[in-house]
Amino acid sequence: MKYLTDEKRIKAVTVCFTDLEGRLHMLDYDKKFLLRSADNLTFDGSSVRGFSQQHESDLRLSIDWSAFYWLPSDVFGPGKVLVFAEVRGQDGLPYLADMRARLKDYTAAMYEKEGLVAQFAHEIEGFLFRGRDAERNYPERGAFEFISTGGYYHSLPGDALRRFIDSAAEVQRAMGFGNEKDHPEVAPSQFEMNFTHAEALIAADQVQLYKLLCRQVAQNYDMTACFLPKPVTGINGNGMHTNISLARKGTNLFHDKNGDSGLSASGWSFTERILNSASDICLILNGSVNAYRRLDPHFEAPNQIKASATDRGSMVRIPLGNERSARIEVRSVAPDANPYMTVYTLLRTGLEGPLPDPAEIASKRARTRFLPDNINDAIRLFKSSKFVADLLGEQVQTRFAEVKQASAERCPRALGSLIKTAEVQFH
Ligand code: GLU
Ligand code: MG
Ligand code: MG
Repeated sequence: MKYLTDEKRIKAVTVCFTDLEGRLHMLDYDKKFLLRSADNLTFDGSSVRGFSQQHESDLRLSIDWSAFYWLPSDVFGPGKVLVFAEVRGQDGLPYLADMRARLKDYTAAMYEKEGLVAQFAHEIEGFLFRGRDAERNYPERGAFEFISTGGYYHSLPGDALRRFIDSAAEVQRAMGFGNEKDHPEVAPSQFEMNFTHAEALIAADQVQLYKLLCRQVAQNYDMTACFLPKPVTGINGNGMHTNISLARKGTNLFHDKNGDSGLSASGWSFTERILNSASDICLILNGSVNAYRRLDPHFEAPNQIKASATDRGSMVRIPLGNERSARIEVRSVAPDANPYMTVYTLLRTGLEGPLPDPAEIASKRARTRFLPDNINDAIRLFKSSKFVADLLGEQVQTRFAEVKQASAERCPRALGSLIKTAEVQFH
């Protein structure tokens, strides 16, 4: 905390947490107040969807000082810092709907019990639309307006999409993300930026920071960065491909040069467990009505419950890797999913989920199964899953199903290609 006390330029500290649906909430605390009262921060949990009921409304925040970030002043304004917090109940105990805290506990236990470290890298695609409030203008104009028409890897150095990507990458570097590459994606006005893999919790925090900084950079250019899975019909949507590997003492456990597609037996067992529970956990990875519009292999978004080294219609791809980079890529995840819940779910499912018997694996490989193609089916499968009850606890399972049911009802399937403002949640 010393750096905060000594640093004169910081006036306010943005304390943030994530609700059950994945939306980032931010409270700005005066620095002096925060330093005096860090052990007694409270907020109204009943105003947060999926959190407490009205009668138990006040919840506590406990700051995670290890997740502290400077926000570059040329983009966010002067003197801003951000820190993640954990949500606690009135009794000070961990709050079950705070998936960040649950992920943190789970990865700590993995390390303590078995020396396992999970590495994640999220590839988050987004669109850049003209106008600061592109989502608000949408109903009048009936369409979002692209700012560039180039395709995959294609943009002039000075065009609006490239300028946006360059500025966002600069902010990421300043905030300590390891950047690998960035490029315009297949659809017009679509972008993707890849940052280096990181430990599970840090990688999930980076998803929230990435979306936040992209939105801020876009706003500064009078544009909107949009992470809705399928904002425009007839062209590619936005994915959040999630790359996963496990290591022990620095050795990548997913690598085996003689294994099928270069993946080790433990990598395959992790994958088979995810495939086996894919329908049960689909709602966690695809939690909006819009997410189901994206899952169409014609647009490189997978709907098949299988793993493949080549077929991008498979929900898990095994990228070409070596002893350092061997990993699996879960392609079915939507960018509006709760990153903490997604990472926690994929990890626990891969490590502890039920394994199909070998005969079943063989028959599944022959006969492809598909992910649910609409949110109502996904909700039904999620609600009736014993595995999900075990994974999240019945209380969180029920609450999550309730908030998703409510969002499904706000956007009936009959809506076809139109996006309703209510659905544009801009997580
Ligand atoms: N945009 C595609 C998706 O929705 C993915 C394209 C790619 O393979 O990068 O998942
Ligand atoms: Mg991509
Ligand atoms: Mg990918």
